[in-house]
Amino acid sequence: MRYGGRSLAQGIAVGKACLYKPYDAKPEKKMLEPGECDKALLRYKTAQETALGELKCIYNNLSNEDEAAIFLAHIDILCDDVINEEIKDCICCEGYIEEWAVYSTYENYIQTLGKVKDTLICERAADLKDVQNRLLRCLAGIPENNLSMLQKPTVIVAHDLMPSDTAMLDRSMVKGIVIEIGGVTSHSAIIARSYGIPLLCVQNATQLVANDDTLIIDAFEGVLLLNADKATVESYIKKCDMWLAKKKEIERYITVKSICTDGTRIDVELNIGSATSEELKDSEYTDGIGLFRTEFLYMGRRQLPSEDEQFEIYKRVLSQFSGRHVTLRTLDIGGDKILESIQLPQEQNPFMGKRALRLCFDNLEIFKTQIRAALRASIYGNLWIMFPMVSSMDDFRRAKGIVTEVKEELALSAIPFDKNIKLGIMIEIPAIAMLADQVSKEVDFASIGTNDLLQYALAVDRMNPDVSTYYQIYHPALFRLIGFVAEQFRKEDKPLCVCGESAGDPLSAVVFIGLGIRKLSMGCSLISGIKKLICGMSLEKSERLAKSIQDMSTATEVENLLREALNEYI
Ligand code: PEP
Ligand code: MG
Repeated sequence: MRYGGRSLAQGIAVGKACLYKPYDAKPEKKMLEPGECDKALLRYKTAQETALGELKCIYNNLSNEDEAAIFLAHIDILCDDVINEEIKDCICCEGYIEEWAVYSTYENYIQTLGKVKDTLICERAADLKDVQNRLLRCLAGIPENNLSMLQKPTVIVAHDLMPSDTAMLDRSMVKGIVIEIGGVTSHSAIIARSYGIPLLCVQNATQLVANDDTLIIDAFEGVLLLNADKATVESYIKKCDMWLAKKKEIERYITVKSICTDGTRIDVELNIGSATSEELKDSEYTDGIGLFRTEFLYMGRRQLPSEDEQFEIYKRVLSQFSGRHVTLRTLDIGGDKILESIQLPQEQNPFMGKRALRLCFDNLEIFKTQIRAALRASIYGNLWIMFPMVSSMDDFRRAKGIVTEVKEELALSAIPFDKNIKLGIMIEIPAIAMLADQVSKEVDFASIGTNDLLQYALAVDRMNPDVSTYYQIYHPALFRLIGFVAEQFRKEDKPLCVCGESAGDPLSAVVFIGLGIRKLSMGCSLISGIKKLICGMSLEKSERLAKSIQDMSTATEVENLLREALNEYI
């Protein structure tokens, strides 16, 4: 069978399907038949033992102490005497079925703890929910399905992958991913692209595909082939090998310096999330970190990272970049990025709501903990701090004020930090882009987040596949906005980077350079391709192209012109 899909990360993959459906069930409130109490108790006990076995297995396989501590806490909850007695009473005294007994007993605690404002206590509610789901799944006889425990190379098929899922993903085992929803700049797409994993969005994929089906993903053509004949599978294995060989060929450019043919230097910087060794493997060939999406350190876990834990990670990254700047973006949570450790408000329009800096202003303790950790680490390298979702200069001034407060607190305790840290902002809201003349005078640097800038400028939800045709990365208005911002920062001679996904897109990158941008930041797998492009390109050609799209009115005209002019480079 052949299905059409949208390519969110290019590439080809052939492999066996692994359906990923996080278990989340609400059982019916039903009474036991007379005389069934003992059987129900036995089923509960067996499910509890299975759950305990799973948890012990995960615990024994984890080397990270924090992650291991979470599963140890789950074992404690699972074996808690009070909860166990309540479940047994619910079965034997009240006569409910074992599923309802488990669900309702846990639910009482979850509801009570969930109402408490203290984040630490709320975290316990999330742990209880996790154990509740595990027990219910074991009662249903459904095996564990966890992306960190893949046993063989696999194509994952899921409704969607939360950033917490991608954070847990065992990347060495994932050949490709198929999801049902998500846009080019959804975080699953960003992660897949930065690891070079082909990603396709196919409607109803989880209903079309069964575990162990043979899947072919052609994320160049936007095609999913299900259980294709032997000849087709073989031809795609060849195509996949060719694609991998081409990728290898481009990867050779990783070591070159990114200098245009006329000698203009363009800094090519790295976007990272969890600061894994894989993300940082080619870091010595980059001009710094243009975007450290620190929220990834908070995701896929039940507890917020402590100040010391963050400090150690920031220190490690700063030391590794020995002098090259590391742009640490403060927690950018909300939108499609959710945390299990804090309850985010339910909003109609989360991308327009309490996101990023707005959430940090409401959770000052979390914000200050991060700033403290970053400032403490700043003595180990060249740290720049960047605030996301800045919509007015009030936002920047308020955030800067909080940094000053933390600096004062550290100074009082005689804790050393770099006193001259650069403070900058993401330019991802049109209002702040239009104020670039003012902004460039006040901030130390800025970075343009094209993913959000497009979403807000074109009024298109970046996650909604139904409006994805309106999410036009070559929209001329985007280039006009960026051209204006670049001009203002050039006048002030302040660093300006582009760190959204467009920075790693060759067609857009050429225009950005022509508009005066000298810093591009992207995921690790895109760096060599952009370096190859820069080395073969003259500044004069980029400027000419940027100029010729100035008078264009549609994204299609812009794209056609760029494709034709840059055919030999892409
Ligand atoms: C952006 O908006 O372009 C950006 C880099 O931030 P994020 O994708 O993390 O929202
Ligand atoms: Mg953004």
